[in-house]
Amino acid sequence: MVLADPRRSETGVRLSDSAWTAADGASLYGLDRWGDPYFSVNARGHMLVQPRGDRGGSLDLVELVRELQGRGLSLPLLIRFDDILEDRLERLHGAFERAIAQYGYAGRYQGVFPVKCNQQRHVVEQLVESGRRWHFGLEAGSKAELLIALSLLDDPDALLICNGYKDRRFIETAILARQLGRQPVVVIEQADEVPRIIAASHELGAAPLIGIRAKLATRSTGRWGSSVGERAKFGLSVPQLLSCVEALRQAGLLADLRLLHFHIGSQINDIAVLKDALQEAGRIYVELTRLGAPMGYLDVGGGLGIDYDGSRTASAASKNYSLQNYANDVVATVRECCEPHGVTPPTLVSESGRALASHFSVLVFNVLGAASLTGSEPEAAVEEALILRNLRETLHTIEAWPARGSEHDSSQGADASAVSGVLEHLQEAWNDALKFRDDALAAFRLGYLSLPERGKAEQLSWACCRAIARHLATLPPGTAVPEELRTLPAVLAGTYYANLSVFRSAPDTWAIDQLFPVLPLQRLNEQPTRLGSFADLTCDSDGKLARFIDRGQVKPLLELHELRQGEPYWMGLFLAGAYQEVMGNLHNLFGSTNAVHIRLAAGGGYQVDHVVRGDTNAEVLQAMEHDPDLLLERLRVASEVAIASGRLGIGDARRLMAHLRSSLEQTTYLEEG
Ligand SMILES: *Cc1c(COP(=O)(O)O)cnc(C)c1O
Repeated sequence: MVLADPRRSETGVRLSDSAWTAADGASLYGLDRWGDPYFSVNARGHMLVQPRGDRGGSLDLVELVRELQGRGLSLPLLIRFDDILEDRLERLHGAFERAIAQYGYAGRYQGVFPVKCNQQRHVVEQLVESGRRWHFGLEAGSKAELLIALSLLDDPDALLICNGYKDRRFIETAILARQLGRQPVVVIEQADEVPRIIAASHELGAAPLIGIRAKLATRSTGRWGSSVGERAKFGLSVPQLLSCVEALRQAGLLADLRLLHFHIGSQINDIAVLKDALQEAGRIYVELTRLGAPMGYLDVGGGLGIDYDGSRTASAASKNYSLQNYANDVVATVRECCEPHGVTPPTLVSESGRALASHFSVLVFNVLGAASLTGSEPEAAVEEALILRNLRETLHTIEAWPARGSEHDSSQGADASAVSGVLEHLQEAWNDALKFRDDALAAFRLGYLSLPERGKAEQLSWACCRAIARHLATLPPGTAVPEELRTLPAVLAGTYYANLSVFRSAPDTWAIDQLFPVLPLQRLNEQPTRLGSFADLTCDSDGKLARFIDRGQVKPLLELHELRQGEPYWMGLFLAGAYQEVMGNLHNLFGSTNAVHIRLAAGGGYQVDHVVRGDTNAEVLQAMEHDPDLLLERLRVASEVAIASGRLGIGDARRLMAHLRSSLEQTTYLEEG
């Protein structure tokens, strides 16, 4: 719909020079809250990326996309800013270093990256490279991830934490990797892993570094709340933990029990939950040292949250703590647990995935077109049906009311009754419009209205809707508008067709209602005049983006701009660098998008470090066991038959085959133009 703006005419054309600035755009989309310090807007109304945070240097995202397109990288495009990844690592370590200094903690911090968060080779390589100065390690949860971690992590001082279910081969691999000079820690997640570890160690005559995952009683909240508690999938209960210690002692392996691990689920929204868990784990750690285990490491798992909507609340898309609060709580709580018992404070390990990998990648997609109900008044015929005349009259009555503009602000008391009067009129008019529209439908069914007349009736009722919405928008802020009227703008909302598959690129929006910031990359210095949501390319009604961040709430429609003929409208989906790529699927056979790694160059500008081409149609077909050559050959034979029977000309057959062949080599997304 067209948002009512006194500066705009009926058609949304600007009447007078708008006072809307890029700062208004930033505030509308919450950029100043969730974007800091990496994303902002420049005076041209373009999204700006500061890949090194507040250490300087920025890139105009619109210019960047234009130049990448010039290199043949079509949209949708995943842009990975490796500088952001590095900056996140620095911030994480900085926070722990400050906390350790502040609380006089006698241990250190040594983190690992959980590979499951983003297994892409260039991403893991970058993290290992950037994390070298802190001996930053990796966490693997499966054999394939272990292979990645073993081959990429060549720092002998970095930890390689092995979580997840482990068979004999997994355990033996870890033991042998220790002899290779790595530091794999086999974390016991299930009681039945204990005899396997003991048997493998005896056979190889060497032990791995051993960790234990505790099943905490602390109740978590939010989506991953069930990751803890008695029925949690992973971890040892206290009785199991005690018998595990005994078994290791008897096997002569207690000296290798070095780490206590817990993980209370991803995206911890409420810091209070973490504090409870830390206290419980801290106590268990102390008791393990009393039982004779040397210990040395306390691994607090993942869960460090991301403020997707910038609201700093304990709501699902946010968190009520900062990175520094988190580090402070970990350090202070563990110290409080150890100190009274004279236990040496452990090296603190965290497995923060989401918090490290969310910011660095930006998914850019283009809008292919938009559909919305037109709200303009159709021309009147000479002798119009009564129903149409009634609708038209209703529309004119609504339009004739004086606009209630900001003049209300001065004399609020006196205006309260005027406002409720306006609302009453609007409600009445809307009731009339609905009744006449229903009459029109009934008349059409019975054969008294023609199809064009029915079309006019619908158009007139939308025009009423739009006219009412325009009045509503001029009411003083905070006016209590009846529910029925409040939802009117949504009726006129547009559908924007997005060149992407949410199942491939933002699967959590569909699977677990995850919210990501979505906003246009350009025209942020221009007031958006429409409301809309996105429909993706898949033939699935779930393939949509229709939930948007709204300061701790969710809104179903996003403020968007009217599309301009011949001008691209690029959208960015932000903070989606964690989990989305690997969780994405091939629904409707939309494959991976093009991806590119960008780094700020030393002398200004940027460099393209890696280009990762998206899946071609041939590749997604092969993933389903189809043979592209065979498909082509079948169609060639079919076209020969059609040529022979005179249904298809030779030139057309050649054109068809050329299209088929080049489609196989191209990405699965729509080409522009
Ligand atoms: C998934 C997972 C993580 C990562 O969690 P984030 O919330 O992304 O930091 C860490 N540790 C374990 C054991 C996990 O399963």
